[in-house]
Amino acid sequence: MIKEETIGIIGGSGFYDLASSLKEIKVETPYGAASDKIGLGKIAGRKVAFLPRHNKNHDIPPHLINYRANIWALSELGVERIITSHAVGSLQKDYRPGDFVVLDQFIDRTKGRIDTFYDGPIVTHVSTAFPYCPQIRKLAVKKAKEMKLKVHDSGTVVVIQGPRFSTAAESMWYTKMGWHTINMTEYPEIALAREKGLCYTAIGVVTDYDSGIVAEGKVKPVSVEKIVLVFKENMGNIKKLMMEIIKDWPESRTCGCQDVLKNARF
Ligand SMILES: [Zn+2]
Repeated sequence: MIKEETIGIIGGSGFYDLASSLKEIKVETPYGAASDKIGLGKIAGRKVAFLPRHNKNHDIPPHLINYRANIWALSELGVERIITSHAVGSLQKDYRPGDFVVLDQFIDRTKGRIDTFYDGPIVTHVSTAFPYCPQIRKLAVKKAKEMKLKVHDSGTVVVIQGPRFSTAAESMWYTKMGWHTINMTEYPEIALAREKGLCYTAIGVVTDYDSGIVAEGKVKPVSVEKIVLVFKENMGNIKKLMMEIIKDWPESRTCGCQDVLKNARF
């Protein structure tokens, strides 16, 4: 019998209502508690495992998320491919609030977060040159275009430690470097998924412009009302997009993400 794949989804608890016959389970991990119980169910006939990154009550701030426990728990359930969404700020004028970004690079500006499963004795250096799954990224872009969403087919996300936002100077620096978006949760989630040989795809939803680009007068500041409105509108779109991607989820992995450990050990 062919083992049926379980697709991992990390995101807001809003995703829960997409799935049918949802069953919540608690997964014990060697790294402590995951953010929440994992919801097992089906979307478009495919098995899925949901994990709310900040807990269903949204009470875990980005710098205190147990990223290792989260990735370990999904991997323990047999998940090989993860798709996720993040709210992101924009660092560039043409990445407008309401746009979608299929991320392809990250810049790590976090500090003190535990970002590896490999503390020895086997020394392991995993390549993160191209950390996102090329196969699912391509599918995500295709589906977003079919839905007529404004989608950027690539983008670099700067991940800051938080919980404070950037100063205008920090933010201007990121903009000048040509990086596109900013958030607080993308790292080390992706690095840990990569270390486990999992495919990882992240869709950024742009909620507002970051402080530097606003301070420079390149764009007008976005009001809180507008941010809330953009977020609400996009919640429906991101859920629909996830559903469409899962409908066409490829049966086999032709991307090579699973081979990442082959040349990583000495
Ligand atoms: Zn992959």
